[in-house]
Amino acid sequence: MKRNILLAAALLLSLILVTACLPGGKQNQGPRKFEAEFIGLFDTLTRVMGYAENEEDFKAVVQGLKDDLEVYHRLYDIYDSYPDLVNIKTVNSMAGQGPVAVDRKIIDLLLYSKDAYQLTEGRVNIALGAVTKIWHRYRSEGVDDPASARLPKMELLEEAALHTRMDNLLIDPVKGTVELKDPKMSLDVGAIAKGYAVEQAARAAEERGVKHLLISVGGNVRAIGARNDQGEPWRVGIENPDYAADDYLAIVKADAVSVVTSGVYERFYMVGGKSYHHIIDPDTLFPENRYLSVSIVTPDSGLADVLSTALFNLDLEEGKKLIGSIEGTEALWCMPDGSLVESDGFADLTILD
Ligand code: ADP
Ligand code: MG
Repeated sequence: MKRNILLAAALLLSLILVTACLPGGKQNQGPRKFEAEFIGLFDTLTRVMGYAENEEDFKAVVQGLKDDLEVYHRLYDIYDSYPDLVNIKTVNSMAGQGPVAVDRKIIDLLLYSKDAYQLTEGRVNIALGAVTKIWHRYRSEGVDDPASARLPKMELLEEAALHTRMDNLLIDPVKGTVELKDPKMSLDVGAIAKGYAVEQAARAAEERGVKHLLISVGGNVRAIGARNDQGEPWRVGIENPDYAADDYLAIVKADAVSVVTSGVYERFYMVGGKSYHHIIDPDTLFPENRYLSVSIVTPDSGLADVLSTALFNLDLEEGKKLIGSIEGTEALWCMPDGSLVESDGFADLTILD
């Protein structure tokens, strides 16, 4: 439902809307601040912020970024097909039918996802598609018709869970093929693809010479450099899961880092007065209510996306241990009662005001 609205909006509004504001009301003195927005990629709103001498320069930077993100969006799409394009949906449709030749960007994402599976000891598993598909269907039906919202039966989930083995995903980087050995398995790259794509697109922009830019794809934030040549950081607000609250959970000083949050408020449905969100614990096959949100700050946006999902499926102590083992990475947990827990170095990254 939300997806349909977004897609309809995307058709109307896939152009880039740019706005500018003048620093301190002065004109023609150095770079001006610009913002751009577009909708549709990764089914969400993308916002880009930066400084440029003029609108044309900024538009060119944003267009380059948008073009790259669009390529990743299509390749990593599990819901839609595109003419003459082999994407992850195609790979899923070929499960059990032998190797499929794919774009190198798909090979790279899948190799990255295998690493993520190892790093998180299976808490983030892109081969969980058979299970997440069931939840996706029940959630969509529950959102469309709340009165008849239901939970999937455990037997149904357990049968699907038999078809979620990562080692049945075969990747041949030399031949450029992937194969789903199990005909009933299916890839769901929703926990990784957006962050991974933002990271790759940001690196490509850096290679084109972009020095300062703030990119947010549906709240998956990646800062290229600092805000300016003086090294002043970007300020990235972490959304409060309580919509009624008008403050952020924290404001992160961002200089060449990513800030990524997973939250129960993003996608959920209600059954019998209880809320069920979109991150599935592979151990219980259910969404667990450990946290309202988890935010990660780390340079690589792909890793940030992996970890924000992984921590949802880990108890606080296990999560702290994982974060502590990865250099330059901090986390913020928002607990069910709204209280906050920070990793050891998190406070050093935030602005107190
Ligand atoms: P968002 O999509 O809001 O950025 P996440 O990065 O946390 O949120 O990814 C959640 C999505 O990942 C779900 O919508 C689902 O498609 C998929 N998913 C859910 N549970 C898992 C899991 N344990 N491992 C891998 N993918 C998952
Ligand atoms: Mg994620």
